[in-house]
Amino acid sequence: MSELPLVVRTIAEARTIVGRARAQGREVGMVPTMGALHEGHASLIRAARRDTDLVVVSIFVNPTQFGPSEDYTRYPRNMEADRLICREAGADLIFAPTDEEMYPNGLESTFVEVKALTRNLEGACRPTHFRGVATVVAKLFLAAQPDAAWFGEKDYQQLQVVRRMVSDLFLPVEIKAGAIVRETDGLALSSRNRYLNSEERAAATVLWRAIREGQAAVAGGQRRGDNIRTLLKSVVESERLARLEYAEVADAENLEPVDDLGQGREARVLIACYVGKTRLIDNAPLAC
Ligand code: AMP
Repeated sequence: MSELPLVVRTIAEARTIVGRARAQGREVGMVPTMGALHEGHASLIRAARRDTDLVVVSIFVNPTQFGPSEDYTRYPRNMEADRLICREAGADLIFAPTDEEMYPNGLESTFVEVKALTRNLEGACRPTHFRGVATVVAKLFLAAQPDAAWFGEKDYQQLQVVRRMVSDLFLPVEIKAGAIVRETDGLALSSRNRYLNSEERAAATVLWRAIREGQAAVAGGQRRGDNIRTLLKSVVESERLARLEYAEVADAENLEPVDDLGQGREARVLIACYVGKTRLIDNAPLAC
């Protein structure tokens, strides 16, 4: 069994290790996470392992991407379990900075704001979320200086926002996407699934059930965005423990609502709902 990956807490240490690798002509891959790792994260680490020579996993529960009534303080943290998953998946280094290391001048600091792509969906429900995400991802890239970084399609809007930020700011990092990893009943893996009790866990399949119904409707010839939205909504609302936040059919590139799926552009279904007190999101392509 290989050794547990080294854990470093400071930017200086991460830069020294990454700098040494780059000086030897090795490519550096990064997987930014908030920890509480699962198979979804592991799939991204494995992809980074395949494509790059030094794999850095960052574990940082970023305070600026949580709203005031969200789960920042109770977000699951378990470094020892995370380290084992990192070893299994082939990570070389864990960069796990403290809040003080990442925000040395406090949380009222410099922010990166991506205006495009953030007005609807998660951006509408969580108004300061993407400002926090863009800021921390930019900081993590500047801190660890990877050549490439992997993000999951699970957070599809986040993936698009990060791509836009990298393009707008000329950040020299290649952004790679990983497919959503699901449980056998379709529930997308998420660190937040561990908040669900057994009844809620059963109800949580409603996101995937709605997505499948939406995909089946499109396969059956449905082309009207509104009709698909109504269908998704009715599936989610049929689940007693679920409370819908949004069920959208959006352009896969710019995330604007799609009215007519017959236009040849790629569309995506995106859903957010509460199951009990736990907020879950999921998405999938809608192929015509
Ligand atoms: P998080 O720790 O939730 O911030 O997620 C870190 C990265 O893992 C993000 O790029 C997520 O999109 C990705 N991720 C989370 N869950 C999954 C999943 N079920 N399948 C694939 N990627 C995932």
